[in-house]
Amino acid sequence: MTSDLAGNAELTMTQQAYSRDPLEDRETGHYRKEYVTPFVDKWDELIDWDGRAESEGQFFIDILKARGKERVLDVACGTGFHSVRLTEAGFDVTASDGNAAMVAKAFENGQARGLILKTSQADWRWLNRDIHGKYDAIICLGNSFTHLHEEQDRRRALAEFYAALKHDGVLILDQRNYDEMLDHGFSSKHKYYYCGDDVSAEPEHIDEGLCRMRYDFPDGASYTLNLCPIRKDYMRRLFREAGFERVRTYGDFQDTYAEDEPDFFIHVVEKS
Ligand code: SAM
Repeated sequence: MTSDLAGNAELTMTQQAYSRDPLEDRETGHYRKEYVTPFVDKWDELIDWDGRAESEGQFFIDILKARGKERVLDVACGTGFHSVRLTEAGFDVTASDGNAAMVAKAFENGQARGLILKTSQADWRWLNRDIHGKYDAIICLGNSFTHLHEEQDRRRALAEFYAALKHDGVLILDQRNYDEMLDHGFSSKHKYYYCGDDVSAEPEHIDEGLCRMRYDFPDGASYTLNLCPIRKDYMRRLFREAGFERVRTYGDFQDTYAEDEPDFFIHVVEKS
């Protein structure tokens, strides 16, 4: 496992750090101050691995297998849900994340299932500095990309993903349906991603530049994430401008959907 000093500091951080006015915190690197150890420890309560596995079914496995992909880089592994699932399904997976506490948790979760995950700590903005070799596929799931608050960081991360993929590589990246949240307010089926029954995940503030999500746990603990509410068509344009040739967007794992229906969009993006 590779790490750096900034990353190791997160392993001991216990409290989220925000400015006096937390709505001012709209900076890409801020995620490192948000995923503190107690929140990382609670993440699996929030997502509920069994519920999430059931709701997404074979979606990612089928997409990767249909394209003959084997070597997968999970760039936002978090606690390891997809890295573990894909390893169990026979893929050669590297679990990576910019947050050291997350990488450690993913490794631990793999071990608990009898797996030794290949792990690496890498910020997407400098991905190819820390990740070596080329991959058949990159996955960036769980609404992670919307931690990037600045457009130049989004472009930079996509350029790094592009460079880490083989010539016919595929990127699978998902996001919340922010268009719906911005235009009509928040509602959720609570069916996908955050499947834990007793945990609430709701925005406490939304404007064109910030979606501040709040996660309340049954023991009274509460955490927040400051995310950038990226619109779907803007995201699709960024993929093309980064050089990707084909972009297909699913809504809650379905090929056809009404724009206002899905809670999440999943972009399947191909280099050639
Ligand atoms: N994919 C996991 C899931 O679905 O459960 C984790 C999702 S969590 C919402 C977002 C993850 O993205 C966190 O683990 C965070 O550390 C990581 N992340 C955010 N910004 C990052 C960046 N610039 N570089 C690398 N990782 C980043």
